[in-house]
Amino acid sequence: MKLTLLEKFDQDNIIMGKLDELINWSRANSQWYFQFGLACCAIEMMAAAAPRYDLERFGAMPRATPRQSDVMIVAGTVSLKMAERVKRLYEQMADPKYVISMGSCSNSGGPYWQYGYHVLKGVDQIIPVDIYIPGCPPRPEALVQGLLELRVKIREETPFRKTTAAE
Ligand code: SF4
Repeated sequence: MKLTLLEKFDQDNIIMGKLDELINWSRANSQWYFQFGLACCAIEMMAAAAPRYDLERFGAMPRATPRQSDVMIVAGTVSLKMAERVKRLYEQMADPKYVISMGSCSNSGGPYWQYGYHVLKGVDQIIPVDIYIPGCPPRPEALVQGLLELRVKIREETPFRKTTAAE
């Protein structure tokens, strides 16, 4: 049976593990997020950070600068004018970096998908998105779920192993 890193910590005083696992364990449990609130979904993102949902218990801490952030949460309507700024700030984040698209607007244009001439029809048209959270707006629980899903994704990464094109 394969033990998780946390279970290995419980055994004697010997820790055997891959460096990949240790790095991923620390990264998965400290998702500092860049709060990119653009419309009503941002209110739910703020609610998720408040004491009732308390994102910090998962190690998710809000940052006001992309340079200190691991994950960008795009919460709200991405207008065409704002899209350029979203892309520029994403590029200022250090690797490895992740994006959570929160809500219908950010996922696909939301209520503006058909006639919103000023709205980008999905933030994934300009930056890569790792997790999509549906809803208009999604509840804070959904954002918590999204961050937990991102944890799973981070834990599966192999930062110190080179991958080949065949993999
Ligand atoms: S998805 Fe709905 S709640 Fe969220 S920003 Fe768009 S219109 Fe507002």
